Amino acid sequence: MSKLKLATAWLDGCSGCHMSFLDIDERILELIPLVDIVYSPIVDAKEYPDQVDIALVEGAVASEDDEKKIKKIRAHTKVLVAMGDCSVTGNVPSMRNPFGPEKILDRAYIENASAQQQIPTQVVPKLLRVVRPIHEFVKVDVHLPGCPPSADTFYKALVALVTGGPLDVSAITRFGA
Ligand code: SF4
Repeated sequence: MSKLKLATAWLDGCSGCHMSFLDIDERILELIPLVDIVYSPIVDAKEYPDQVDIALVEGAVASEDDEKKIKKIRAHTKVLVAMGDCSVTGNVPSMRNPFGPEKILDRAYIENASAQQQIPTQVVPKLLRVVRPIHEFVKVDVHLPGCPPSADTFYKALVALVTGGPLDVSAITRFGA
């Protein structure tokens, strides 16, 4: 049986969801015979592959780059999983929404900068006016809530997705629960 292609991606999030995913620890070895990790911050691939079976996406859509990325991921992925509250609801990144991007950039690069006070015009992606969850841009197949979802949640969800078994929602626990 050929292995499933698994990807993980990172939009506007704190990396805590990926850290919790890695907390699966040695149980990830059980999944190695079943999946290849083809794209992720934890592997070296630079380009999102053409055909991915399962993608776990951390973070909300906050910039033009995020929007482009989530649309590309959707177009090349069979099962798209929103992992964590930022991806599911907007959560922490969306706390900037009442202020608008100009005030946020000003606060970060002018008010709080002790040197070279200037708002970058290159490299930093252009911010969208509001931060939104990924389901407002693309179809999401599975939502895994939690900030972050616990390692047990990731493990149980991955086993269900990889084996085609049922995903027991009672298995979804939040960090520390
Ligand atoms: Fe970080 Fe929580 Fe957002 Fe995950 S859901 S990226 S842990 S803030």
